[in-house]
Amino acid sequence: MTRSVSIFGATGSIGQNTLDLIRRDHGGYRVEALTGGRNIAQLAADAREFGANLAVTCFDDCLPELREALAGSGIAVASGPEALIEAADRPVDWTMSAIVGAAGLAPGFHALRHGRTLALANKESLVTAGPLLMSEARAHGARILPVDSEHSAVFQALVGEDIGAVERVIVTASGGALRDWSKDQLARATVADASAHPNWDMGQRITIDSASLFNKALELIETKEFFGISPDKISAVVHPQSIVHALVGFSDGALMAHLGAPDMRHAIGYALHWPERRNLPVDRIDLAEIATLEFRKPDEDRFPALRLAREVMEIGGKAGTVFNAAKEVALDQFIAGTIGFLDMAAVVEATMDAISNEIRLSNAINSLEMVLQTDHLARVRAKELASRRQEQTA
Ligand code: NAD
Ligand code: MG
Repeated sequence: MTRSVSIFGATGSIGQNTLDLIRRDHGGYRVEALTGGRNIAQLAADAREFGANLAVTCFDDCLPELREALAGSGIAVASGPEALIEAADRPVDWTMSAIVGAAGLAPGFHALRHGRTLALANKESLVTAGPLLMSEARAHGARILPVDSEHSAVFQALVGEDIGAVERVIVTASGGALRDWSKDQLARATVADASAHPNWDMGQRITIDSASLFNKALELIETKEFFGISPDKISAVVHPQSIVHALVGFSDGALMAHLGAPDMRHAIGYALHWPERRNLPVDRIDLAEIATLEFRKPDEDRFPALRLAREVMEIGGKAGTVFNAAKEVALDQFIAGTIGFLDMAAVVEATMDAISNEIRLSNAINSLEMVLQTDHLARVRAKELASRRQEQTA
């Protein structure tokens, strides 16, 4: 049976890995819509290769280039955030949500309304609006499948289990590019330093988030929101080899671990073929060759993001929206060279403090509009606080 699919963020690292799997499965899929950003050559080439019906760039100024690249192909083209939503409103069997950042929320939210399957790589959606997204899925009988490797691992460890018997969930963290750096060294870390991941090949933003452990912080919150597990049962452990992706501990003391090569095509493929398991083109690990698997406690003094994530999970409500938005601004500012590596966590913490004086963070989020408003407010404050920090250090 041919399944229809749309891929949001098709030109990115997750999107390209998804297309790689679809390409290997001749005739199994029909591609409805592909979306991307400024890499129009990639978007157009993929739209032609996969015979998509629609190609969307999120940037209006890229539309003429996309139109020209797809002239005569019969593939419809569009641009901008509204076009992403229109693409999400086209019913398909399976949607990959792989836009980076909170921009991925609205398309994913709309895709759920058709009661089909949303493969969710965009963890920011769950951090910024977890309860809203999960209830939208329930309301429409849609299914969300995790694509983040740790969450796919937890999901797989839970097959056939009673969630009530779960005592703890441990997600592993490689520790990122700056794992063993001192605080003084971290203060001087450059974008290039933070962009070299030891084990995983990913987009630039998530790679830097891995170095700051903000990625793991997002994932702790993602665990809470996706599986509905209480924060005190969720933790992270540093595991430099990135072979064990997550562990689930049960009430009888058993700890089920998920092991695999650090290749996102495993988690993507699991979500693509679920509930079946199919052959995937990932390396098979050789434990004797790996020989050693190490685990250590994360250092929250050097990497405060994890402590902040715990606060966010305890507060609930809008705290995740503020945390995610502030983190995105802080990351932008670090990439732009206006603030230092350690300033990112400081800006996020200061933003959460500032916003908690303006609104009650624990109040539940009950609409997409409310998420967008809170997100906007947090971005404004985070930008102010980042420029104040820049002035102080100048
Ligand atoms: P990437 O930067 O490689 O790709 C991002 C995609 O989103 C591109 O297609 C880009 O054009 C598009 N995009 C960027 N900004 C946009 C905007 N404002 N509106 C619409 N589209 C926009 O990112 P990635 O590494 O593929 O990550 C995608 C998502 O998957 C992120 O949420 C990330 O946290 C998550 N994720 C990635 C990995 C990985 O291995 N790369 C692993 C786990 C989770
Ligand atoms: Mg992950």
